[in-house]
Amino acid sequence: MYDCIIIGGGPAGLSAALVLGRSMREVLLFDHGKPRHAPARHSHGFITRDGVTPAEFRRLAHKDLSAYPTIQKKEEEIVDVRHHHHGGFEVLSSTGTRETARTLLLSSGMQEKLPQIRGLDSFYGQSLFSCPYCDGYEVRGKKLVLITESKNAFATAQIIQHWSRALVLCTNGHSIVTPDQYRMLQVRGIEVIDQPIHQLLGKDGQLSGISFTSGDKLTCEAGFVTPQLSHSGNLSYKLRCQMNDKGAIQTDGYGRTSIRGIYAAGDNSVISPTQLVIAAGEGSRAAIGINMDLIRADF
Ligand SMILES: Cc1cc2nc3c(=O)[nH]c(=O)nc-3n(C[C@H](O)[C@H](O)[C@H](O)COP(=O)(O)OP(=O)(O)OC[C@H]3O[C@@H](n4cnc5c(N)ncnc54)[C@H](O)[C@@H]3O)c2cc1C
Repeated sequence: MYDCIIIGGGPAGLSAALVLGRSMREVLLFDHGKPRHAPARHSHGFITRDGVTPAEFRRLAHKDLSAYPTIQKKEEEIVDVRHHHHGGFEVLSSTGTRETARTLLLSSGMQEKLPQIRGLDSFYGQSLFSCPYCDGYEVRGKKLVLITESKNAFATAQIIQHWSRALVLCTNGHSIVTPDQYRMLQVRGIEVIDQPIHQLLGKDGQLSGISFTSGDKLTCEAGFVTPQLSHSGNLSYKLRCQMNDKGAIQTDGYGRTSIRGIYAAGDNSVISPTQLVIAAGEGSRAAIGINMDLIRADF
């Protein structure tokens, strides 16, 4: 039996593996290699790693882990988790691998669903982003669009305009801006277009405009979009982990969930704000919680 099986090898799981491995814990990390920031050209804001590609980030993390014989890795997806009759947990991977551990760390991240707009996928992560703290600096002062169908449209526009006042808010046919909010945006020169979008325009990942079903066109240089988030896979629901009012897995300060022996870290226990460095920090915190609980159990 491993001391801990980590499900998900993004910054949260990788960081937890490092801290547990250095605590002489036998760790098995499962990852099927679909980190949330995979569409991005570069990732920003992680001190000492500002501007690296997602692939380089992972390469460097795996290089760090390879120094510790206590850390094993499998590139497999976990499809089922259950309590083991000898205590602890058993996981089942999509290839049929079964492994057991005294504790589990859920660090499988969140999945994004983008608005269904023609062409959107080809710009996402290249010139159309979801987070101004990740990519706002690179598009500061540019002519931006914010494409959102969310009820938080006004609050999001308020934040994005900090990076560029040349902002147009496009709601893709949804009436989500109240008359008061509309007036406040207008005063700051932020136009609101609530026509349905026909498609996004541009080439080689570079967004240059939007065409609307009315035939109108809008030019722009870059933009932001609001994705809908959901937990990757359904393991946390299957295990009946308690969720908080943000839809995140409820954890204490050491990653402990409502189920003894199960811990969570990263986007799935944070939801907002989501950042690589925050996920890594949460992974470290949960690893310390896991090690502390194992020490106490064995003392
Ligand atoms: C386009 C884009 C750009 C971004 N840019 C930045 C940026 O510049 N700077 C920044 O700080 N943040 C950025 N972010 C946010 C950042 O990606 C997330 O906050 C961070 O990746 C969360 O880390 P995590 O470890 O919780 O999850 P993830 O990084 O999503 O990793 C989860 C991992 O778990 C694996 N997994 C899921 N389910 C299973 C399973 N059942 N079995 C095995 N493996 C599983 C996945 O394949 C994945 O590798 C960006 C996000 C997006 C969408």
